[in-house]
Amino acid sequence: MITRSSRLTHVAYDIRGEIYEQSQALAKQGHQILSLHIGDPAPFGYKVPESIIKNMAANLERAQGYGDAIGLLEAREALQVAYAKRNFTDLQLEDIYVGNGVSELALISLQALLNDGDEVLVPTPDYPLWTSAVNLFGGKTVYYRCDEAANWYPDPEDIRQKITSRTKGIVLINPNNPTGAVYPADVLKRIADIAAEHNLVIFSDEIYDKILYDGVQHTSIATLNEDVICLTFSGLTKNYRVPGFRAGWMIISGPKQKATDYIGGITLLANLRVCGNQQVQFAIKAVLEGHQCIEDLTAPGGRLRIQRDLCYQKISQIPGVRCSKPMGAFYMFGKLNLAKFDLASDYDFVLKLLKEEKVLIVHGTGFNHYTNDHFRVVFLPDTEILTTAINRMAAFLERHQSK
Ligand code: PLP
Repeated sequence: MITRSSRLTHVAYDIRGEIYEQSQALAKQGHQILSLHIGDPAPFGYKVPESIIKNMAANLERAQGYGDAIGLLEAREALQVAYAKRNFTDLQLEDIYVGNGVSELALISLQALLNDGDEVLVPTPDYPLWTSAVNLFGGKTVYYRCDEAANWYPDPEDIRQKITSRTKGIVLINPNNPTGAVYPADVLKRIADIAAEHNLVIFSDEIYDKILYDGVQHTSIATLNEDVICLTFSGLTKNYRVPGFRAGWMIISGPKQKATDYIGGITLLANLRVCGNQQVQFAIKAVLEGHQCIEDLTAPGGRLRIQRDLCYQKISQIPGVRCSKPMGAFYMFGKLNLAKFDLASDYDFVLKLLKEEKVLIVHGTGFNHYTNDHFRVVFLPDTEILTTAINRMAAFLERHQSK
């Protein structure tokens, strides 16, 4: 028997886990599955910005050779300009890394930092990449709570209390997946100050930074305290609706002279994988300078805004279910009152919903939520699919009321 490494013991990605595999098996048997489980716009008819396709096609010849390990120069120049406009100060071209999505750069950044037993403060719930990456590289995830009763904002005092002599960093996901929360500047500032005081690295995953509703503003934590080393992550995946093209970036800011060894480690790992996919990196300049982002879809009357409202309205009307209105991204994180149903847990709910109604969502514990009574719904599908899926969920829960 060939077995997997013990390093994978606490590595999981339930968005494509066991329940997803069962949905694939059902689909093979001919069942039509309504998939509300993954943040991929492609199957739901969103238009890819033309500038991306045009640039990739036009530059295919130029993209044949290996590129710079930290990213194509013209992409990094465009990012330098874009982030300077967002109040990132003193940003140098070598502070910008472009790679195959946030996922790759998150793995590199944690692998370069962690020794066995080092602690990283990770939100609960989180996007499972972060928990898994910390565990994969020998670190220990220490969860801080995002409080549902407080709009799912992180609690800076909880963060402070969980810092030990082994703490190396704090992960933030803002706007948040799975909760849809967008954090206010005062909460972020308190966290930035704590990180500066304790010499911690902030990993700020801002991949949804342009997917905002109801006029809410996004603030990058890196702009709130110049004394903290901050790694800010984003990319084309969500804002520009091209997850398959694999283009992400990471911006290092703060007192870099304090972290030259760590930054050298990041560059070493970037060199080790030679370079990211080149063709899509040509498009970064074009999309950052163009006007083909996602704002039209999130503005009043825009597709995502309509779907968000529908999803929120319909799910919050189901007896025994509660949810907060997402202010960013395209996820809704609902809570089941388990006492009202004959369901043992979030997992039980999601599995039976798939089997009985052919609707696929993800259980909250798949996002490392600290209680087993939440679920995440993706509201990328159109209103017709969403209506059918949520109606089926409501009918399922009606049938499963506890006797
Ligand atoms: N970070 C968060 C919070 C996400 O939700 C996702 C994808 O769902 C990713 C990172 C993955 O990003 P990428 O496609 O750039 O690897």
